[in-house]
Amino acid sequence: MVKRGMARGRSGAAGAGRMTARKVAGKAPGRAPRKAAPAEPKMLAAMNRQIVEELDSAYLYLAMAAYFEGEGLEGMAHWMKAQSIEEVIHAMKFFGHIHSRAGTVELQALAKPQKTWASPLAAFEAAYAHERHITRCIHDLVDLAAAERDHAALPLLQWFVEEQVEEEESALKVVDLLKRVGSSGHGLLLIDRQLAARAMPVSMPANGE
Ligand code: MG
Repeated sequence: MVKRGMARGRSGAAGAGRMTARKVAGKAPGRAPRKAAPAEPKMLAAMNRQIVEELDSAYLYLAMAAYFEGEGLEGMAHWMKAQSIEEVIHAMKFFGHIHSRAGTVELQALAKPQKTWASPLAAFEAAYAHERHITRCIHDLVDLAAAERDHAALPLLQWFVEEQVEEEESALKVVDLLKRVGSSGHGLLLIDRQLAARAMPVSMPANGE
């Protein structure tokens, strides 16, 4: 201890002072995490609305999963459960971004989703139409970010632009398959089996556990 103190003394008082200042700055308790520049209020409000859109999507796909379970189409139910979880992850991306930008997340009530559909094709057509709506929401956010010169929001929004291409494509593929098999029960079961192979974004508890 004495030796270190003496060494510091020999290196000069100014050097010791710099070390102390650095130590305090680096280890002060409760130091705020580094954040990107605060987002514009209009962007924050729009991103809060998008959290609701994404959670509404999760709720809609969960309702579709319940409908498919009731129809005995477990592969389609599985596909919709995976889709529902993905939408929660989408919401969490905006949730995290808002907090990183010194904003406040403000959740809103979700609308009660539809309970039943006329057919599996009708459900997947509704899912595709919903994704088209979400794509328009994301593009509006990109336009707003450009107008507000919110460059820090662009990487996140660009991820969503690309994600929406995939979302529309995957829903439309199922719509096309269902149209192709028409009223064939055998064809429907083949598609159901195919959709059961979709990977879950996170592990899920099995039914009843
Ligand atoms: Mg989404």
